Amino acid sequence: MTTLRAAQALTPDGWRRNIIVEIGADGRIARVAADDGTPADHSVGILLPAPANAHSHAFQRAMAGLTERRGPDPRDSFWTWRKLMYRFLDRLTPEHVEAIAAFVQMEMLEAGYATNVEFHYLHHQPGGTPYDNPAEMAERIAAATAQSGIGLALLPVHYQFGGCDRRPLGPGQCRFGTDPDAFAALHAASARALAALPADTRLGVAPHSLRAVAPEALPGLRTLAPKGPFHMHLAEQQAEVEEVQAALGQRPVEWVLDHLAPGDGFTFIHCTQMTPPETEALARTGAVAGLCPITESSLGDGIFDGIRWRAAGGRLAVGSDSNIRIALSEELRTLEYSQRLRDRSRAALATAEASTGRILYAAVLEGGAQAAGRDTGALAPGRRADLMVLDGDHVDLAGREGDTLLDSYIFAGDDRMVREVWSAGRHMVRDGAHVAREAITAAYRRAMANLRGAL
Ligand code: ZN
Repeated sequence: MTTLRAAQALTPDGWRRNIIVEIGADGRIARVAADDGTPADHSVGILLPAPANAHSHAFQRAMAGLTERRGPDPRDSFWTWRKLMYRFLDRLTPEHVEAIAAFVQMEMLEAGYATNVEFHYLHHQPGGTPYDNPAEMAERIAAATAQSGIGLALLPVHYQFGGCDRRPLGPGQCRFGTDPDAFAALHAASARALAALPADTRLGVAPHSLRAVAPEALPGLRTLAPKGPFHMHLAEQQAEVEEVQAALGQRPVEWVLDHLAPGDGFTFIHCTQMTPPETEALARTGAVAGLCPITESSLGDGIFDGIRWRAAGGRLAVGSDSNIRIALSEELRTLEYSQRLRDRSRAALATAEASTGRILYAAVLEGGAQAAGRDTGALAPGRRADLMVLDGDHVDLAGREGDTLLDSYIFAGDDRMVREVWSAGRHMVRDGAHVAREAITAAYRRAMANLRGAL
């Protein structure tokens, strides 16, 4: 049992002062109560549930900062960036992937995320031959997770075709590709790869997109992990929308609404190219929009219609996707600022009852838990103890209270305010740094030195 004493805390009953939170040996919150003098292991400032990072491709972290020059194409775009990404990943070995994933997970924890939902599609050797163990790369992500202590929801990705016309995968895509039978075997091997990780680990499934998977294969994929999260990239780029429309006769969101019966277990990543009726209809299904505002800005994807989505009751989560920058406060700020820039407004996602910061934070707690298939997101007995602490003495937090703390963290501060993080009760960030920071960083530096010159 670990006991925390918090000066301020965000609970399902709202903000409370001076409370005790007990974390059981099972990694769940055992008790939340007024400070009754129980001796505490840790006295902390501002205690919050820690959200999940709902979308990541860990290996792309190693490209951060390397794709900001103009290429030979007259107009740099998502598609020219993707070519660079494909070239880069030809060099990656399982050892690289393990070192990069551990570093990414460490950065996520230090940013206040308790869970890494990994959309995992780098499966095979360069050239496309599977490893002897088809889940070799999943094993490496599991090994990284054992070191970082983050909660993992692994989503093995089915990626079959190079486009809606079912063309074969291009040379840059051959490390991702499987036919449905090979994917089922890979998925089963991935379950074995996770067997030694803690009980909060989840296995889901992710068809890459309507570009890369035969529509008729989608229901079968759902049955591989009927209780696990089901994620798919959706409507990220205009060219993708047009390609799907030409092939299937419907825009991606229209097709999904008509054919997939999306609901609670579904998360659709990006959703930056939706019409207003699509936004409203998809929001009403209960599916989560998995937004990646920093990456979507970096790649010029477009602006998610957050105001319409929320007005229709839509759920949302944030993820760091390309991992060009892993920063929870900045994802939330970028999401809100994108709405303000588009509409020339302020406090765009706030309501009459709650500030912008509170709305955003509460939304990603709930939506992140749903996207990760994880029983978390609230400071309440029985939930997994995914917790983070903001520094109550920070110059921009001291003397403030309630929702203003979240506004100050998201809009005036950054993740350096994060002091402590627990994932399912594992205390992985202490006094602002991950407990294995030195070893994880040293391994990442070695991997990066080895990859130098790959772009
Ligand atoms: Zn993605």
